Amino acid sequence: MLCLDHQGYIAQIISPQMKDYQLLIDAAKKADCLLELAADQVILPGFIDLHIHAPQWPNAGVALDQPLEQWLNAYTFPLEKRYQDPSFAKKVYANLVQELLAQGTTTALYFGSVHNLGNLELVKACYHYGQRGFVGKVVMDNPQQTPEDYRDLSTAQALRDTEDFIKTVQQLNQSESIPVTPVITPRFVPSCTTPTLAGLGYLARQYNLPIQSHCSESDWENDYAIQNYHQRDAEVLNHFGLLTDKAVMAHGTLLNEADLNLFQKRQVALAHCPISNVYFGNAVLPAKEILERKNKMGLGTDISGGFSPSLYQNIRQAVISSHQLHEGVDARIDPSTRGSSRKMLTMKNAFYLATVGGAQSLHVPAGVIQVGHYADLQIVRQNWQAFQAETPVMRFEKFMYHTTKANIDQVMVQGKLINLNQGVNDD
Ligand SMILES: [Zn+2]
Repeated sequence: MLCLDHQGYIAQIISPQMKDYQLLIDAAKKADCLLELAADQVILPGFIDLHIHAPQWPNAGVALDQPLEQWLNAYTFPLEKRYQDPSFAKKVYANLVQELLAQGTTTALYFGSVHNLGNLELVKACYHYGQRGFVGKVVMDNPQQTPEDYRDLSTAQALRDTEDFIKTVQQLNQSESIPVTPVITPRFVPSCTTPTLAGLGYLARQYNLPIQSHCSESDWENDYAIQNYHQRDAEVLNHFGLLTDKAVMAHGTLLNEADLNLFQKRQVALAHCPISNVYFGNAVLPAKEILERKNKMGLGTDISGGFSPSLYQNIRQAVISSHQLHEGVDARIDPSTRGSSRKMLTMKNAFYLATVGGAQSLHVPAGVIQVGHYADLQIVRQNWQAFQAETPVMRFEKFMYHTTKANIDQVMVQGKLINLNQGVNDD
């Protein structure tokens, strides 16, 4: 039995063998705060989505056959531009935050858009629906790499808006029990001018805030830094003070050994986005080896580079992609050379990424059911009939492979049960 305190932490874990077990059950029943699991339900830590673009939610599943640059310019930027209208932002973000909670995601690290009013709607949706949010005002001011009608107009404006966003969120947090953390968010190296990258590094230090961006996401992005800075992407970000122990860099499919060493030295986390990487990553992240070398790493949906808001789906894809990296994919190549020496990720590894890995990356005491951690939990119902005796490991793997939103019965963030049926327009 898990006992929660009033701040939403797991205060005690009591087993039936302990002497006060029945007394505590009776007391909880009497106080009407006992939540009992059915025989076909299990309790799991809530998931942590370490990389998601909130404004791209309406495009989830659209144009994934396009190359990255084309996808950004033809589909993504025109949609993100619409969030200058706070009423559009409110509608989409209410729907997205509820969707993620219903999918078992209790914490999310969000990219917003460039617009502060729209981003504040995302912050408010997190408060309202009870999700632990980390939200960044996206910064993109490089005229060569961003559309004229969707960019920060200058370095000064980009930095001023970022600072305004930080201060406003910190103010709003004062009346909330689950605060939203503002995040320094350069979109990626190509979309920012040099003074802006430097200014964002300064703000991150000044306010001691998390940083999120993309790093070595694709051949195109990787080459941009080399051509324009004569340095690798990771080195550019490091130069501007954007690689800290609170930084989360998405994708990293093309990081080399030196980059990974730098990430480890700086304690930078990697957000592995296995579905999105199939479309835009130009490579499979060798996630097992990165885990073994003890780099920090979690899992992201990367909506809408990835189509699915479900971390279950991303857990599965992380395992599938690593198998394909190991085995090879082209039957014309001789079996002796078809695969690679890259190791395969296990289901346990992938589950770790969606829980403990994400929590460590964001410095949140969650992702594990342990005393002293937040009660960020999901109660999931078994959706298969067992025809044989199933060991705990078999059940764990089947839960990971078969769970859908329909089987997630309850979600709790910091001890508070989420109402999963509020409806999109609920104020
Ligand atoms: Zn992304």
